[in-house]
Amino acid sequence: MASSIMEECFIKRSQQKKKTSPLNYKERLFVLTQEKLSYYEYDQDKGRRKSLRGTVDLQKVKCVEKVYPEHHAPTERLYPFQVIYDDGPLYIFAKNGEIQSEWIRKLKEIVRYNKDLKQKYHPCFWVDGQWQCCQQEVKQAMGCRVLQGLSKDRGGSGKPLPPTPVEEPAVQTLSLEPPKPSLSVGMTVIAEHEYIPLSAQDLELKKDEEYTILEMPDANWWRARDKYGREGYIPNNYVVQAGNVLERYPWYCKNMNRSQAENLLKTENKDGGFVVRDSRLKAGQYTVSLFSKISGETAGSCRHYNICTTSQGQFYLADKHFFSTIPELITYHQHNAAGMVSRLKIIVSNRAHAPSTAGLGYGMWEINPRHLTFIKELGNGQFGVVKYGKWQGQHDVAIKMIKEGSMSEEEFIEEAKIMMKLCHENLVQLYGVCTKQRPIYIVTEFLSNGCLLTYLKEGLKQHPTNIQLLEMCKDVAEGMAYLESNQYLHRDLAARNCLVDTNGTVKVTDFGLSRYVLDDEYTSSEGSKFPVRWSPPEVLLYRKFSSKSDIWAYGILMWEIHTLGKLPYERLDNQAIVDQVSKGYRLYRPQLANERVYSIMKSCWPEKAEERPTFQELAVNVQDLLYEFQ
Ligand code: ADP
Ligand code: MG
Repeated sequence: MASSIMEECFIKRSQQKKKTSPLNYKERLFVLTQEKLSYYEYDQDKGRRKSLRGTVDLQKVKCVEKVYPEHHAPTERLYPFQVIYDDGPLYIFAKNGEIQSEWIRKLKEIVRYNKDLKQKYHPCFWVDGQWQCCQQEVKQAMGCRVLQGLSKDRGGSGKPLPPTPVEEPAVQTLSLEPPKPSLSVGMTVIAEHEYIPLSAQDLELKKDEEYTILEMPDANWWRARDKYGREGYIPNNYVVQAGNVLERYPWYCKNMNRSQAENLLKTENKDGGFVVRDSRLKAGQYTVSLFSKISGETAGSCRHYNICTTSQGQFYLADKHFFSTIPELITYHQHNAAGMVSRLKIIVSNRAHAPSTAGLGYGMWEINPRHLTFIKELGNGQFGVVKYGKWQGQHDVAIKMIKEGSMSEEEFIEEAKIMMKLCHENLVQLYGVCTKQRPIYIVTEFLSNGCLLTYLKEGLKQHPTNIQLLEMCKDVAEGMAYLESNQYLHRDLAARNCLVDTNGTVKVTDFGLSRYVLDDEYTSSEGSKFPVRWSPPEVLLYRKFSSKSDIWAYGILMWEIHTLGKLPYERLDNQAIVDQVSKGYRLYRPQLANERVYSIMKSCWPEKAEERPTFQELAVNVQDLLYEFQ
């Protein structure tokens, strides 16, 4: 038997492998060897080890960290720590801080060369189906806090880390302060974009200047004060918390994915052009995308280099030149290719592109039609003509002119106030409505690449890669996960109800709108316009809409994306679809989808609605696949 390194009686929390399994705390004797962490029943009176209750294979451990104790924790549960492995978190409570630190240190030392060590973790407990720190409801959800020692914030302190001898374990200690709510009144933020007030109550934002947050009355608009003491409302997606330093570098493009980076770099077409982006695929990791032209070449190509982290928390790129912060690493490679195809010569930035605000100014949802100019017609939809235009002569908008008799307007206008508050980078933003005249207008964000269905059929310049197609799927999953977290149903999710912006990002539109359509052909499931091809059996048979019918539609949308816009069940008419789908017939695997992609699609199509995943889970699954493709 392997010799034990340490033994200790701890309280162990039950692992709640199922959401409904009970939460209990039992005293166990923990025995640590070089290979395993085992726990036994323990006979207090005789001081003897009894039967083995469980074992963790230390090679599978992904993270060992302190946990912030529960509110009003009893005295015996004040020093918890977590061992994260395949089966999820194992929570252990030590008697005092010393024992807690000693065990964490020893465990970290043993696991420090494990594969797949996490860079982000949850500082609080998983309780009854929810992470207490970030309220996410998926157990596998990526951690919400970057491990200290890896944090990108570190670059801002200006203090390089002291060199760590190799023998030292990769200890990433965490001070036991309560996790700060990431955003709070009184905090200082820095403007990432210029904001010119759209309404009289708003405050102007100047890029890179600091502001203090005074009030957070709304999900999207906060009241802030600038350095001159002026106060007003600002769109909170235009600012970042001071200290998130990467955001302050022009080369950092936070929400950019691989295809968007390639698009941007190819458009710039400059040898040595680069961006640094989140390797969205793995939390807390970054990727350098670099464009280069071999001399004489006209086309050029992109390469992607992951910024690697050593177990001591240092950063390096292709060759192993180590730096304690990412900005230092970038500065070095601006002068030295050191293993890359070229040095990082030219910073390419997408910062000019400011995100959409939730409405045109705080509290603004009625728009004065005289502030709109119409430029050209974009298309014709269920409610009539859609036009591209400008608001106040400078802001791009799309305007739906609602044909009279096509919509239950009163109800919609009420709903619009709620829709305005939905604000996510993968949802088409509703800016406001003009309701004082007829026809009424719905004013939204304008997306220059138009409808996704048309884009798939005609708009892709080159044959798309697997990654590009999956990134579209991921965009939609993220937008839908946001709707899901707000308990908002789409009811008509399909490629025709997604739009594509200039850099290829896909955004979901027309959410919830089908409830206000006045047209029997559309609303009745026997009608010719009812989205039969996107509907699950329970909708076709009993009109039972739920978040799970949106999931079914998402699977069909993934299929549309991977067939470049084919009509689902193209050889069947509506009646045949109802018959076949309720008998268990499903769409085939598109050529562009491999088995893994197809299995995600199919996971949306079990007959039993409750067996379908959530959008949160889908987003994670698509992301995992993307990571493997990289
Ligand atoms: P409806 O939902 O009323 O049926 P659509 O949303 O389908 O109408 O709009 C019709 C067409 O107008 C779309 O296919 C698309 O090409 C274009 N369009 C609609 N909204 C926008 C927008 N926000 N940005 C760019 N194009 C748009
Ligand atoms: Mg539509």
